[in-house]
Amino acid sequence: AVLSRYFPDEVVRKIEERFNIKTLYPTQVAAVEKGVLDGKNIVLSAPTASGKTLVAELAALKHLLNGGKVLYLAPLRALASEKFKEFKEFFGEFGYRSVLSTGDYDTADPSLGKYDVIVTTNEKADSLLRHSAPWFPDVTLVIADEVHLLGSEKRGATLEVLLTRILLSEDPPQILGLSATIGNLEEVARWLNATPVSVEWRPVLLREGVYYDGTIFYADGASRSVEDVGSALANLVHDVLREEGQALVFSPTRRAASSDAKKLSVYTRKFLRDSERRHLKEAARKVLSSHADKLTNELAELMLHGVAFHHAGLSGDARETVEQLFREGFLKTVVATPTLAAGVNLPARRVIITDYRRYNVELGYHESIPVMEYKQMAGRAGRPQYDREGEAILIARNMEEVEFLFKRYVYSAPETLQSQLGSEPVLRAQVLAVISTESRIKTTEDLDRFLERTFFALKFGTFSLSTLSRKVLRRLVEGGLVELNGEALKPTFLGRRVAELYIDPETALEGLRFFNSTPASSELAYLFLVSKTPDMVTLSVRRSDYEFLETELENRKNEIPYQVPEDEIEYEFFLSYLKTALLLSDWINEVPEDVIVEKYDVGPGDIYSMTQTAEWIAYSLSQIADVTGHKEHSSRLGVLSKRIAHGVKEELLELVSLRGIGRVRARRLYEHGYKSLVDLILADERDLTRIPGIGPNLARSIKRQLGAVGEKEEENEEDYGPVE
Ligand code: ADP
Repeated sequence: AVLSRYFPDEVVRKIEERFNIKTLYPTQVAAVEKGVLDGKNIVLSAPTASGKTLVAELAALKHLLNGGKVLYLAPLRALASEKFKEFKEFFGEFGYRSVLSTGDYDTADPSLGKYDVIVTTNEKADSLLRHSAPWFPDVTLVIADEVHLLGSEKRGATLEVLLTRILLSEDPPQILGLSATIGNLEEVARWLNATPVSVEWRPVLLREGVYYDGTIFYADGASRSVEDVGSALANLVHDVLREEGQALVFSPTRRAASSDAKKLSVYTRKFLRDSERRHLKEAARKVLSSHADKLTNELAELMLHGVAFHHAGLSGDARETVEQLFREGFLKTVVATPTLAAGVNLPARRVIITDYRRYNVELGYHESIPVMEYKQMAGRAGRPQYDREGEAILIARNMEEVEFLFKRYVYSAPETLQSQLGSEPVLRAQVLAVISTESRIKTTEDLDRFLERTFFALKFGTFSLSTLSRKVLRRLVEGGLVELNGEALKPTFLGRRVAELYIDPETALEGLRFFNSTPASSELAYLFLVSKTPDMVTLSVRRSDYEFLETELENRKNEIPYQVPEDEIEYEFFLSYLKTALLLSDWINEVPEDVIVEKYDVGPGDIYSMTQTAEWIAYSLSQIADVTGHKEHSSRLGVLSKRIAHGVKEELLELVSLRGIGRVRARRLYEHGYKSLVDLILADERDLTRIPGIGPNLARSIKRQLGAVGEKEEENEEDYGPVE
């Protein structure tokens, strides 16, 4: 009935019938009452699975029906693609087109303008704005999902500046922020000119509790005795599996996650039916067909017992498989690191938090996790269609801790969210970006006016920000990225390019120092440079690494155009750059993935994310070299970035340009005499199928790709069968 006030009858009917919506959830009613369908800015804070997505969809549909365009922002790629799938179906039903754009940061993607709903990550949206995407002024609704990420140390500032730009744009679109529970919702809403809407309602009841010595103490005063089968964690898992529920366990580190999963496997296997065991066996086989390293092997072995671990070291495929098997009930328990709590939605009857402490590497001691993080983990408890209620249980190690955990987590409100813009490196990158891309910012005064509109300024006033921004400006001017004449501000050509490339200004300056002081260099020298930039995520150095790293350093010292530092801490950083560079070097020299996993103690997921980042940095540095006249550096870095992307020697670059041909298959083709695309054009399709790893489907696809240039077809990689 509420909907018919806003939508034509046939639209309402479709929503109700096609998507099985009988009545609106309280979350949705509240948002509609506060004006989300009347064009009002809203920040909606509500638990997971309480129906926030439908609020976004309804608001979007309203805009689309009025000829508007919608931009949806997600904090993570995985979330963006999850939402994209949902939106494609929902809006497709009404004849509107959705598109997912998360890749390449160095483009304005004008083609996105053809779509009605554009789904991206915060970073990608920011980079699109930096390239002045022509369709941006047509956006009438911006949906910022997980807007509480404003407070995230690493990525909060991007979102903050992005939203500031949107607030200051000529004809600002409606803003709908979706958030987890935060302490200062009102404040965030005020910043966004929005009405705060806070809803506590959940589709499944959440019971929170603390476990100690055989008993779960619940917040509502009840308690439950749990059978002792071994350890606290085992007892809690066993207890819920016995009642045909599932457990989602959060462990503080990757190592703890896999060892907990191993310990639990003795219990989980008892609850597997034969048919489930067969299904898991098949799934494990499939996971192993694309990755054969130690970590994936360990995972596959555990899967057979109905349990899995889940963390960023796993390949994307493996993680997705684990998620799906858990949702379908084949896996009885998943042990995850806390990163999962912020990511995809994976609900379970019982959520168990094994340790409220986390080791802080930088500070060197254990600290307790924020309440907000606890709430996010706890919020995963209860599967809407299956469980009557969900439980979130913390484990205490003694009776005093029981009380402490109740006070610290269960009864506490989440922290207030803080702006991250006050950190100098963060502000440096953002100031350069706004100067380079906001044509309205021509003077220091304009810059101040922009910064006044940030969330930081709302909280702390403008004074400290403008002092800091002067400091940052000086640094940008010194680096040749910005010109400052009196009050007048102008980005240099280089500065503008740095902002477009989406790199930290310091990364560009690091590159320039290198180009100016070093002649064209060895592969390792460039990889070391890439690893040394602040945009790269480096490997940490373990005690056991010293021997191998120092030997390498001794042997290849002359390839690295940097002084080995005397200072102990600097030296450790130096070794971590070296370790990272060596991993990249192994990767582009076709060392097999499983060997890299073992040697560097990483997972396939780490290799993927590291090489993605390194590819982007190498590409950006080659662009910086190009615009500053360092042609030789530029072309070497350009080739290197392609090699990093594919993990191959230069001679294979042509072959890996084909869809379905990765580093392993390309090498096989090469060894069989197919060294170029021309060789493949001349090849007989049947001969190709005799090469291991190349089945008839792939052989046909290769021929088709080479035959019909420009003809695009959707193909599924899985059709090509395993590589081995
Ligand atoms: P959130 O975005 O808050 O995490 P979702 O929007 O994903 O939650 O909603 C969780 C589930 O509830 C989805 O499966 C969705 O289809 C369903 N749902 C949402 N609103 C309604 C409704 N009004 N009636 C029935 N089911 C709904």
